[in-house]
Order: sequence, then structure tokens, then C-alpha cells
Amino acid sequence: MDNLLLFPCPGCNSQLYFNAASQQLECEHCGTKVAIEKAADKITENSLKQQLAAGSNTSGVTVEQMVYKCTRCGSQTVFTSETPTFTCGFCNFEVVNPVAYKTRIIQPSGIVPFIVEKQKALEIFKHWTGTGFWAPGDLKEFARQDALHGIYLPFWTYDAQTDSQWQGYGGRHYWVTESYTDSQGKRQSRQVQRTEWIYRNGTYNHFFDDVLIGGATELTQNEYESIFPFRLGELVNFDAKYLSGWQADVYDIAVSDGYSKAEQVMKDAIYDACANLCRIDTFRDLQVSTNYSAQTYKHILLPVWLCSYFYKGKKYHFLINGQTGKIHGKKPVSTAKVVLAVILALVVIAAIVYFSQQG
Ligand SMILES: [Zn+2]
Ligand SMILES: [Zn+2]
Repeated sequence: MDNLLLFPCPGCNSQLYFNAASQQLECEHCGTKVAIEKAADKITENSLKQQLAAGSNTSGVTVEQMVYKCTRCGSQTVFTSETPTFTCGFCNFEVVNPVAYKTRIIQPSGIVPFIVEKQKALEIFKHWTGTGFWAPGDLKEFARQDALHGIYLPFWTYDAQTDSQWQGYGGRHYWVTESYTDSQGKRQSRQVQRTEWIYRNGTYNHFFDDVLIGGATELTQNEYESIFPFRLGELVNFDAKYLSGWQADVYDIAVSDGYSKAEQVMKDAIYDACANLCRIDTFRDLQVSTNYSAQTYKHILLPVWLCSYFYKGKKYHFLINGQTGKIHGKKPVSTAKVVLAVILALVVIAAIVYFSQQG
């Protein structure tokens, strides 16, 4: 409880929150601004091998239920120690709990602070719910604006040196003249494409830098990737001050499981690169074997505006990259509108048939 972070305003003693527009801590009451010192010297690559050898997925800090007595209104709020930020249920006072990260064996070293502010996020969201012909008319009610929240999500980034050997057949197309007998019994000739297959092999070496993998099971890797890229050059040292007034999450995908996903991403990219080397006009039977070495990882937090909502029993997500403003959202499709469109199409076809028969 003593570890909870409050950022009292030096002017009026109310709480300071991180403001995405000014990139500073700001007091909503008296307007006082306090700068955050920015550095990136603590964001270092860590050896994956060493971490995996160290084993153990517990940090020694146990997750427990805790009670917070609000410093503003005195009410009590129950929260779990693995919740990085929470709100007083009575007065909405927002509290940062940096102990949450200590319930995990690996703590974040870097963070990209929010740049897209709430007003901007709401505009983007409002525009999105209002567009799209196939979306149901009541989508706006389900995708409620107050359900859009700014959250720092946990990510893993992995580096690796890869050395691959590949072999396969490159195919070169060529044309031959073929003669045939047409339906009138006449001899004709035509051009036919053939492929000559040539055995090829070689090596492909590539260093992967910062393969980014989502660390929370709340979203799928495809959903995370839908709002990539993040500009990771703007990472700064993790500082709990950036969390003040925002939501945040701890990881629940272990560093080893994240790496398995990263290796799959690298494997796909290596296959594509080797296919380009093997291909002449086309290729077949491509085999690639890869040695992965010098793997390192970083644990970081990235800003995401997120809205989750249920529509007819199915869960949908709307996402905005909190750094770049890039959006991703799958909309439910209105069955009524689809049925109407099909009926309309049938009417048009019937009309065309009718009029063409008249003519
Ligand atoms: Zn103040
Ligand atoms: Zn309160």
C-alpha cells in the first residue's frame, strides 16, 4: 500500500496526470505542469538464453487482494496487487500501483508515452462508428464512447541472428509451338508455355531487430499487428509517471511463449526471402533450415486506445495506435441490410430478364 504512487500537484496538492498533448504531468485543477525527465539509457537488450536458463515463472511477489482507502474521498476500493492502475470507485481518483509489475519475473524497461490524446481518439472512434454501409444502425449504441480507454499494453521485442540454408527448384518458363487439329479437322498451331526446372541452393543470413509480440492474451497477435508499426526509436525509460491517469496491463504471455511466436514471424519472413532467391519465374520444393542465435529480448509498454464490445453475443475490438493514430476495427455486419441487398439484386435481375424478353 505504501508503494502506491500519488503525484500531488505542487500548486494545489490535487493529482497530476500525464497529458499526451504536452507530454508532461498536468494538474486539471490549477493547470500546473511538471516536466518528466526523458532518457533511454535503461532500455537494454537481455539475453534470452540466460533468462530461460534462470527458469521459474514466478517473481516471488504474490498476487493478492488489496484495499485502497482513497486519499481524496476516504472511500475504500478493492483491487488486486497485479493491477498497475485503478480508479477509486466513488470519486474516480486514479491511482498508480507500480508493485503490479513486480508480480512478474520481468519488469518493463521501456515505454512509448501516449501521443494521441483522448479528444482525438474520440473523434477517430466517432467517425469510425458512423461509417460503413454494412454496419448495423445500432452499432453506435453498442460501441459506446465511454468504453474507449487508453491503456498501456505489455509487449515483447526480440532480436535474433539467423543463418539459413535453402534448396529447391527454380522454374524458367519458355514457349513451344504445338500443332493440333481443330474442330473443322484442320491442322493448326498454337503457343504453349512449358517450365524448365533447375536445382538451386544457397544461404541466407539475416539479423532481425525488434520483432514485436503482444504480451497480453486480451488481443490476438493479428490484432496487435493490425495497428503496427510503432516507432520504437521513441522508447524512453519506463517511468510510472506516464501511467498516471491511464490504464495499464501486466503481461500474461511468458517471455518463452512470446519468443515462439517471434520465431514463427521470422520463419515466415525467411521463407519469403529464400523463395525470392530460388525463384526464376517460379519455384517449387523449397526447403529452408535455419539456425537462430544471439537471441535477445526487451519488455516494453506501448500505448493503445481500446474499445471492446459485444454485439449479438460476439466480441469485437476497436483499436487505435496511441502513438501514430492508426486504427483497426472489425464491424459486425447487419443481417437485415445484407438480406435487403440480396432482395434488391434479385429484383434488378428479374427486371432485366423481363425487359429483355419484352424487347
Ligand atoms: Zn494543481
Ligand atoms: Zn475517492
